[in-house]
Amino acid sequence: MTTPLLGQMMDVPLTVSSLLAHAARHFGDTEIVSRRIEGDVHRYTYRDCEKRAKQLAQALIALGVEPGERVATLAWNGYRHLEAYYGTPGFGAVCHTINPRLFPDQIAYIVNHADDAYVLFDTTFAALVDCLAPQCPKVRGWIALADAAHLPKMQTPVLSYETLVAAQDGNYAWPPLDERQASYLCYTSGTTGNPKGALYSHRSTVLHAFGASLPDAMSLSARDSVLPVVPMFHVNAWGIPHAAPLTGAKLVFPGKDLDGKSLYELMENERVTYSAGVPTVWLGLLNYLREAGVRFSSLNRTVIGGSACPPAMLRTFQDEYGVEVIHAWGMTEMSPLGTLSKLTWEQSQRSPDEQRKLREKQGHVLYGVDMKIVGDDGRDLPWDGVAFGDLHVRGPWVIDRYFRKDDSPLVDGWFPTGDVATIDQDSFLHITDRSKDVIKSGGEWISSIDIENVAIAHPAVAEAACIACAHPKWTERPLLVVVKRAAFDVTREELLAFYDGKVAKWWIPDDVVFVDELPHTATGKLQKLKLRDLFRDHVLPSALADEKDCPLARGNPV
Ligand code: ADP
Repeated sequence: MTTPLLGQMMDVPLTVSSLLAHAARHFGDTEIVSRRIEGDVHRYTYRDCEKRAKQLAQALIALGVEPGERVATLAWNGYRHLEAYYGTPGFGAVCHTINPRLFPDQIAYIVNHADDAYVLFDTTFAALVDCLAPQCPKVRGWIALADAAHLPKMQTPVLSYETLVAAQDGNYAWPPLDERQASYLCYTSGTTGNPKGALYSHRSTVLHAFGASLPDAMSLSARDSVLPVVPMFHVNAWGIPHAAPLTGAKLVFPGKDLDGKSLYELMENERVTYSAGVPTVWLGLLNYLREAGVRFSSLNRTVIGGSACPPAMLRTFQDEYGVEVIHAWGMTEMSPLGTLSKLTWEQSQRSPDEQRKLREKQGHVLYGVDMKIVGDDGRDLPWDGVAFGDLHVRGPWVIDRYFRKDDSPLVDGWFPTGDVATIDQDSFLHITDRSKDVIKSGGEWISSIDIENVAIAHPAVAEAACIACAHPKWTERPLLVVVKRAAFDVTREELLAFYDGKVAKWWIPDDVVFVDELPHTATGKLQKLKLRDLFRDHVLPSALADEKDCPLARGNPV
């Protein structure tokens, strides 16, 4: 057997510390601006950030944290959180970002499951930490992201982050690590069952950052001032804290105030060109713009993902405000980026209507991710934009298995996403549902997302959720649950009539219920499981009508 001829290039490991080191060295004066919990706006540079990240690494080492151990964060988007993003994995430990919006019991489960050595927390979460600490006896210390003067009054003994950092000199060289070592740990929000951990590696994080920065992906650049609204506690803020230093983009962190007014003011003050977040956040921002009668003077692109971007929102951003919407799909298990709705040159020659239809979909994969849709028998389905199937993915930033779980989630080497989708001739992905949310009417699937998108386009609708409701004849039929916009009114009949000509007749919901608010998960997604529970006994008018001629409804054998 002949020995393979190896390349003769430097074997430089892809470590996350190299991203910050690059920014500190080559974009040293570029700013990182943060609205702080303390109430003021803090600014410093990539150079300052690297120095403090090194001081943090030294402090954690002094506290006895070993490479491979987990150090958790419970924090908003801000410069200290960014320091933890680099100071922790920089010396080989793992940065475990926790979503503070989860129930305390779930957080305690996560902290214990991850076996976190220390937890860094923003002082807003002092009460939460007091509730967690007795349930997490293996945590060796709770570190408040504050100076000694701003330490909150708590039952739990806490350390001051600033005191720990100030005790170190930052004279530290990032060690060369094996790029396959773990970098970050993120848990899925666990809408069903206990949360599961996705453990990224340095290699997967850096490759993902490269991919995310590409012009047809998130298209970040040194000419951008980037405000990630997507939290750093949710799938690494979609990779922006890595892609920004990689490209040299200015970073603007909004802290805890995510209402429309606060976001708008920060965007204007910091000349933000680029942002990213889930649709719920943008609803608040767009409402504020409308009410205050103001416009963006610098924002030109925004990524919308996490749940489907309603077409009405896409149109408002693009047509009214001239902001390009990049619709993105991904998940915690994918670091998270999978697809983005950027058009090819040929697609952008098509009619405006055709282009818009493409942009409403979740888009094209970026290099690093491969996808397919499969039927119940596991066989590939055609990419014709019609066939629905279970979406499977694979690639170097897709998980192989969950943290501390032995069984592999993979099927023939592919990760089943739990999403149901079509893929069209343009290779554009269209997510129609989570597999558990899909509505099966007479054996045929109805996309709840498509039904919601039509409702949201109605001027009187603030938010809508479509869920399956039991039906004696069709097994399930769609029920639409709607929150009306303040000062607007609409009736059930008007809303149902609004569907005429917009979807197939048999997709039109059988009933509409108006509510004051809809339940959301910790990441701002509709909690359909809870809604289905709430409306378990709802009787559709069509069910009563159909009962007469449906033997099953009377419990008779067919
Ligand atoms: P969780 O399952 O914990 O909420 P994620 O935040 O990782 O975790 O959510 C991933 C899921 O969110 C995807 O599998 C998909 O169902 C949904 N999702 C993400 N982006 C989109 C999008 N652009 N359109 C529709 N669904 C989306």
